[in-house]
Amino acid sequence: MLNRRRDTIVAPATPPGEGGVAVIRISGGNAEALLRRFFRPSAPLDIFASHRLYHGAIHDRAGLALDEVLAVIMHAPRSFTREDVAEIHCHGGPTLVARILDLLVDGGARLAQPGEFTFRAFLNGRIDLTRAEAVIDLIRSRSPAAGNLAFRQLSGELSRAVFQLRDALLHTLAEVEAWIDFPEEDLPLPSLDKFRDQVLQVTVQIDALLAGFATGRALREGLSLLILGSPNVGKSSLLNVLLGESRAIVTDIPGTTRDTIEEPLVLGGVPLRVVDTAGIRDCIDPVEAEGVRRTLGKVTGADLILLVVDGSRPVGDSDLQALELCSGRPTLVVANKADLGTQPFPDPWCELPRVAISTHTGFGIDNLRVQILQTVQGRDTGGGDIGESVLVSDRRHREALVHCRGALELFLEGIKAGRDFEFLALEVREALAALGEITGETTPEQVLDLIFSRFCIGK
Ligand code: GDP
Repeated sequence: MLNRRRDTIVAPATPPGEGGVAVIRISGGNAEALLRRFFRPSAPLDIFASHRLYHGAIHDRAGLALDEVLAVIMHAPRSFTREDVAEIHCHGGPTLVARILDLLVDGGARLAQPGEFTFRAFLNGRIDLTRAEAVIDLIRSRSPAAGNLAFRQLSGELSRAVFQLRDALLHTLAEVEAWIDFPEEDLPLPSLDKFRDQVLQVTVQIDALLAGFATGRALREGLSLLILGSPNVGKSSLLNVLLGESRAIVTDIPGTTRDTIEEPLVLGGVPLRVVDTAGIRDCIDPVEAEGVRRTLGKVTGADLILLVVDGSRPVGDSDLQALELCSGRPTLVVANKADLGTQPFPDPWCELPRVAISTHTGFGIDNLRVQILQTVQGRDTGGGDIGESVLVSDRRHREALVHCRGALELFLEGIKAGRDFEFLALEVREALAALGEITGETTPEQVLDLIFSRFCIGK
C-alpha cells in the first residue's frame, strides 16, 4: 500500500552491489537536519546552499569517520519530490551503504518503499501520473526509439495532449451545465451544432492518439516473437543463436524445454520479446502438459510466430499440429538443420513465407533476421523513426481514451436523439473522469498502488 505520510524517507538511489559511487537519497522535512548531523564538511560551513555539492565525511554517532563523500541539499520546492532532498554520494560498497542507511534510520528517517520518491513527486503536484509512469518506462526502455518516446512522455507531451482534451471538454461542460442551471434566465437557446462540433473535434484528437498506440506499444513492451515447433527441431538452439549466447539449455532428449522462456532482443532498433516454448506433442508428463498449455495461451497473443521444423526430414504429424496452432497468426516457417539436407514441403506449408537455416553452421540466420524485421515492421513497425503522433504506449492510457471516446459517442448520439442537457452533461463528465485516470486526478488507489509497485527502491 502506498504510504501517504509526509515523514522523511531514505533509500539508496543506485543499484545494490559494488560500484564507483553509490548515491543515498533522503527526502522530507528532516533531510537537512539529518545531513547536518552526520556529514562534516571539509571546510567550515554556516549554511548549505541549495543545489551545491559539498565535500566532507560521514561520521557515526561516536564521531568515527565512515567515508569521504560529496553531499548536496536541494531545498523544496526545487527538488524531484518538491520536498527538501539531500543526497550523499559515497563509495559504492554495499556494507558502507548499509551503514550510512542505518545511521540515517537511527536518526529518524524511514526506509522508502519502491517508487516512494516518485509517488511524492506525484502527490506534491510536480509531475502528473503519465510523467511518473514515463520515469519507469525510460529506465526500462530497451531501444533508443523506446527511450525517446518515454522521454517525450516524461517531458509532459502526453499530459499536455490530455490536458488539452480536458480543457476543451470542460469548456463544453460549462456551457451545457449553464443551460441546466439557469434555464429560466432567458439565455439564448444553445446551439447544439456547436456542442457537437466541439466534441467531434475532441474525438478526432483521441482517434489520432489511439492510432499511434500499436507502434507505441511495440516500442514500450516489445513485439512478441514466439518460437514454436515439435520437440527436437532446434527451437532452443535458434533462441540461443538469436540472442547470441546460450540462455536456454540444449539437449538431445525431446521436450526438455519444460517451460516458456522469454528473453528481450533488439533487432534493427525494434525491441522484441522472444518466447521459447515447450514442444508441441501429445504428452502424458504433467510438467510438459503445463508447458504446452502455456504455449497455446502465448500463440494467441504473439505478434509473429517462428514455426520451426526439421527441414532435413519430411514434415510429420506433430509439425502439422503446430501448424494448426498458427492458423490466423502471422507465421514464418523456419526450416532448420539445412546442413543435413532439405526436404520438399507439402501443400499447406508452401503458402507460408519460409526461411532455411542451420543453427549449427549459421547458414541463413542473417536472412532470418531480415525476414523477421520485415514482417514485424510491415505490421506495427516500432523501428526507425516514429512520428510525433505516437504518444500513447501504455494499455492503461489506451483503455482510458477508449472509455472517454465511448462517452463522447453517447453524447453525440444524445444530441442526435434530442436528449436533455442533464444526459449530455453526464456523458461529458464521464469522459472527463476517463481522462483524469490517465493524468492521475481520478485514478483509483489500487491502480496507483500497481503503478508505483513497478518502481525500484530509491526511485
Ligand atoms: P528443441 O527441442 O526444439 O528446443 O531443440 P534443441 O535446440 O534442443 O535441439 C535438438 C537437437 O537438434 C540438438 O541435438 C541440437 O544440437 C540439434 N540441432 C539444432 N539445430 C541444428 C542444426 O541446425 N543442425 C543440426 N545438424 N542439428 C541441430
